[in-house]
Amino acid sequence: MIVYFSCHGCGTIYSAVQERSSTPVISSGLFNCLHCGKPVHHWSGIYNYTDWKSVGHGGDGKEQFGEA
Ligand SMILES: [Zn+2]
Repeated sequence: MIVYFSCHGCGTIYSAVQERSSTPVISSGLFNCLHCGKPVHHWSGIYNYTDWKSVGHGGDGKEQFGEA
């Protein structure tokens, strides 16, 4: 499934693909904002997050989805 996270630093919205491992493997990782470098999301557990994409900006009060 696709999940969305917004950067607390600059408001950029990212989509990521959440994948649940079929084996009891703990995945951990960290994604940093491509614009301001602040950590957007870090995870540790049976879910992994891949295919991060910038999908818009939420800082101006309107949501935009799609390639900018
Ligand atoms: Zn940012």
